[in-house]
Amino acid sequence: MATSLARHIETFRHGVHPADYKELTHDRQIERIPFMDELVLPLTQHLGSPSRPVVKVGDYVHRGQVIGEATGFVSSYLHASATGTITAIDLRNHPSGKVVDSIVLKPDPVSPQILHDERTIDWKTMSPKEIIDQVSWGGFVGLGGAAFPTHVKLTVPEGKKVRFFLVNAVECEPYLNSDYRALLERSDSIFLGVEILLKALGAEIAYIGVEMNKVDAIEQLRAAMPEHLPCEIVPLETKYPQGAEKMLTEAVLDIEIPSGRLPIDVQVIVNNVGTVSGIGDLFRYGQPLIERIVTVTGPGIRKPSNLLIPIGTRLTDVIAYCGGMTDNVKQVLFGGPMMGSAQRMLDVPIMKGTSGILFLTDYEVFPREEYPCIKCQRCVDACPVFLNPSRLGSLAKARLYDDMHEWHIMDCMECGSCSYVCPSNIPLVQRFRVAKVLLREQKARETAGGE
Ligand code: SF4
Ligand code: SF4
Repeated sequence: MATSLARHIETFRHGVHPADYKELTHDRQIERIPFMDELVLPLTQHLGSPSRPVVKVGDYVHRGQVIGEATGFVSSYLHASATGTITAIDLRNHPSGKVVDSIVLKPDPVSPQILHDERTIDWKTMSPKEIIDQVSWGGFVGLGGAAFPTHVKLTVPEGKKVRFFLVNAVECEPYLNSDYRALLERSDSIFLGVEILLKALGAEIAYIGVEMNKVDAIEQLRAAMPEHLPCEIVPLETKYPQGAEKMLTEAVLDIEIPSGRLPIDVQVIVNNVGTVSGIGDLFRYGQPLIERIVTVTGPGIRKPSNLLIPIGTRLTDVIAYCGGMTDNVKQVLFGGPMMGSAQRMLDVPIMKGTSGILFLTDYEVFPREEYPCIKCQRCVDACPVFLNPSRLGSLAKARLYDDMHEWHIMDCMECGSCSYVCPSNIPLVQRFRVAKVLLREQKARETAGGE
């Protein structure tokens, strides 16, 4: 286990070292963006079933008030991110490329935008279940991008137990700095969140994994950590995809999570540092998940920034606030360049899972000619889950999807490390994504046919 910045630098096996390009926003303090004319809050911002509206058009709502309720265990509450009037509940563009049911809110320009029901929640007298119920009410999801409902992850299945709570402050995606800025500017909220979640999980100790391109954050966290807190800051080598749960667990604890298993199977729970910080604020102020830190960056945006953005703010408004795009923008991504999702339209809202917005130009994005595989094995050496991307790539090209299943394609976490190192420019991860979708559809058809 790492205890000294100088002597122990941990990591996982394989992976890649892309240039990090973090200097664009590295030193930009978190800046609160104003409330814009309209907020669009999709009912689908998380994995699981959509939220159900509990407001109607014309209702006046307050900042932090519930406007959508969870529709099952794997679902999430949705709150008004501003005080104002509900102007529509209809289909709107979604960052996934679909149109989905959304609540449209017009912020009240004369409201002071104070928090609805601001209060401190006495977590010390609460049971673990009461804490997790509160997190569920707060609408928390994984803020690293996956948007899996946090209360589901915190609910330990019968017969299992948690020993280690891992806080993912790795932020291994190039360009992004939202977690880094949170480490520097929100350490009180992070440590409060850690203390509360240690109680909720019944875990022995927390580890906060931070990569070595954030040495100042490591030092600052160590200086700010409350003495009574069973928590360690673990410096990690800067390497991608260290933010993946399996990789982080291996890097920090030297525990391998077997194929098809989850961290809880090895007595570990992992949460993103932004989620932990938000949970700290939930109990400190009664503030549900209504805003988040987003890195707006890349050579294609005029004023790269780290912004605190109300959920539902439109991308077009964020672009305008950041001085507009350069003329040669070629691609806009939600997330980083390795796993981010390309946006076809700019008329989409910032959601709970939006960690970054990346503007790439024709200098970074251009067609690359694909060449035959030269069997160099670089992809094999890069794959963090020990697949054979070269072999899988050949099978994908031949559309031999059943054979891909035999070669464990469903273990692929779509990190893109193989594509990144391939000298033949073979679009491996793109082909793997297609294969996985087709295999899942095939399995669903077989399951339906058997019922
Ligand atoms: S995209 Fe899949 S196959 Fe490629 S390196 Fe990542 S996990 Fe391995
Ligand atoms: S990195 Fe590309 S060229 Fe090399 S073995 Fe893998 S698929 Fe083939």
